[in-house]
Formats: sequence, structure tokens, C-alpha cells
Amino acid sequence: MEAQKRFKMMQDLRRDLHMHPELGMQEHRTADIIARHLEKLDMEVRGGVAGTGVVGLLKGHNNGKTVALRADIDALPMEDKKPVSYASSIPGVAHSCGHDAHTAILLGAADILSSLKHEIEGSIKFIFQPSEDTLPGGALPMIEAGVLEKPTVEAIFSLHLNSHFQEGFAAAKSGYASTSSSTFSLTLQGRGGHVAMPRQVVDPIMMAGTVISVTQSILPKKIDPGDPLIFAYGSVHGGSAPNIIPDKVTLTGSIRAGSPEKLDEIIQLFKDISEKTADLYGGECFIDFTRGYPSIYNDPELIEIWKKAASAVVGEERVLLLNHVLTTGDDVSYFHKKVPGVYWHLGIRNEKRGYNHPLHSPNFDFNEEVLVYGAAIQVQAVIDYLKFGTHK
Ligand SMILES: [Zn+2]
Ligand SMILES: [Zn+2]
Repeated sequence: MEAQKRFKMMQDLRRDLHMHPELGMQEHRTADIIARHLEKLDMEVRGGVAGTGVVGLLKGHNNGKTVALRADIDALPMEDKKPVSYASSIPGVAHSCGHDAHTAILLGAADILSSLKHEIEGSIKFIFQPSEDTLPGGALPMIEAGVLEKPTVEAIFSLHLNSHFQEGFAAAKSGYASTSSSTFSLTLQGRGGHVAMPRQVVDPIMMAGTVISVTQSILPKKIDPGDPLIFAYGSVHGGSAPNIIPDKVTLTGSIRAGSPEKLDEIIQLFKDISEKTADLYGGECFIDFTRGYPSIYNDPELIEIWKKAASAVVGEERVLLLNHVLTTGDDVSYFHKKVPGVYWHLGIRNEKRGYNHPLHSPNFDFNEEVLVYGAAIQVQAVIDYLKFGTHK
């Protein structure tokens, strides 16, 4: 198969990127390698998009639809602890989220599709996006820089390596596929004083205790089967001495929900509980929410096209249609808000060879043969979409 022929090329690219990882918005070397590779493939190449993003446009022999493939290219601020020859050469920076693989796969796919240029009706955009792993992410600035326009992208496919799934399996969920998230900081303001004079104080420690116990007894009852909800406190700060009631206590935490509507509902409920509690004690409360990436929504019609394409490559029995939402996010969700898309998971779990470390772990690694599956499925999905896609 065409992807198999590019195995060595993709492996070399992946190892080179792996040894020279770059953090979000600093992917200069990575972007240069991508641009140089695309320029050899007879396509229009635009570098420096929203900083370090790169976009290639391949025009087929006839007008038709435009479809995009997207990869993220950034590494993480952590040590690489793998005892391998291609381990990171940059202290404190490592490709532990597999974005080196995503980049190599997309360059492999670009190579294949460019060789099929004269059979392709329509155009294909190759979007290499910086800074997925660092908020606010590189997807929004790329969209603002116009990567979905001229020509207008009508569908987008992306993938992520995932060690939850066995090597060579492909998995995706139709509809909402990841949680939307928010972090919060809640300050409960009372009036401090001597512990021996309880009538003169408004106790923020009691307010905090009440908010914690009320939220944790009410929120679990809001969980619907198949719609995950995570509400957790991450820090509690207040007070300085055993005989002084402090003026205020600050709680921080995270909320993750299976849909944006659910996230809004839980945020509102948390606000109500905090305000009513503060009121009850005679204090006040101040809440800040910081929104993370929105939920990824996978287009049901495109999922059908992807499923057929993936089945043609790895066999139907290795294609999983998930019925649960994953609690990890990705800023590909911003692309999907503009254009129907599919974000799918390429399984890499291989216990025998020790490839079972989760993403963001210092030992994360995988059997590079999966690069072939990744490229082959993306290529097939694009070809099938341009032939059979129903979106206008
Ligand atoms: Zn990551
Ligand atoms: Zn990632």
C-alpha cells in the first residue's frame, strides 16, 4: 500500500522531530521542516500562519470540494525518560503527546495525496497547527488567520494517538466526543477575628466547608449515564493561625462536562450554591471561571465516511464506534465549530512491547508502524469524502 512505502520517511521525520521537540508557538525548526517537505510536493505553501503554523494547499485536476487534514505540532514542557536513541535532546522538552507522530503522518499523507493529484477532484488543505497543548491553543489564531477560507474548507479530519486503544485500532465517537472544561476560583469573603468571639466574626472556613459538602452531595445526582461530569476541588487556602478566624478562604477546582449545555448548567448551579451559602452566613462570594477548550463535536455523516475508510485500511473489526465521551480535550474543537469534522483516535497500546504509557507520561512511546495506519486512513477518508461527501 502507498502508506507502507512511506514508512521509512515518516519514521525518520518522526524521530527527527522527537529528538528536537519545541514548545507551543516556538515550533520554528519544526515549521521549517514541514514547509520544506510540502514545497517539494508541488503545492502552495504558507508558513508563519498565526506564528508557527504552516498550511499546504494541494489542488486536484478538477474543481470540487475542499477538505482539510490537521495535525498539531507542539511538544510538552517535561523530561523525556525513554532509554531510546531518538529520545529528546532538549532538556525539559519532550514529544510525550505524540504530536511528532501526527506531524509525520500528515506529511506522509501529503506525499501520497500529491502523487495522486491527477486523480483528485477537489482540493486538500494540510493544516499544521502550533500549540495545542498550551492554552489558549493555536487553533483559534489559525482560524482567525483565514486557514478555513480561500478555498473554503468543507470538512476536516484529525487524529490523535491514544494508548487506551490497542495498536492498529481506530476509534471515534459520533456527536459530542470530549468534555468541555472550566476551572474556577471561588473566594468566600467573611469577617475575621478572634476565635473566642464567634459572634463578631463571619467565618469563611465554615462557608467553605458548607460549599464543599453541598456541591459534592448535589452534583453527583446531576450525572446522566453516558454524559460524564467531573467536579473536583484542587486547592483550599485560608487562614494563618489556630486562634484567628481569617477574612477569606479561596477554593479552586475544575469542572468537566460531556456537553457545553451541561457545563453551563453545572457552572450556574455552583454559583447558586456559593451565593446562597455566603448569604446564609452573612458573607459574600466572588467566582472566576476560566473556560478551557470546548467539547469536540464529530459530525455524524462524516463519521460514516471515516468509518468506511478506516475499515478499508485496518479491517472493520478494528474500527470502534465509541459510546462514551472522553475526558481529554483538544482545540480541534474550534475547527469543528466552523466546519464539520472527525477527530479520531489511533490505538497504540502494545503490552508485549511495553507501549502502554499514557499520553503526557515521560515514557510515552509507540510502535512506529502505526504511522502507516494513520496516513492510510487519513488519505482514504479524504479520497472518499471528495468522491462521496454529502456536505455542500
Ligand atoms: Zn497533550
Ligand atoms: Zn495531544
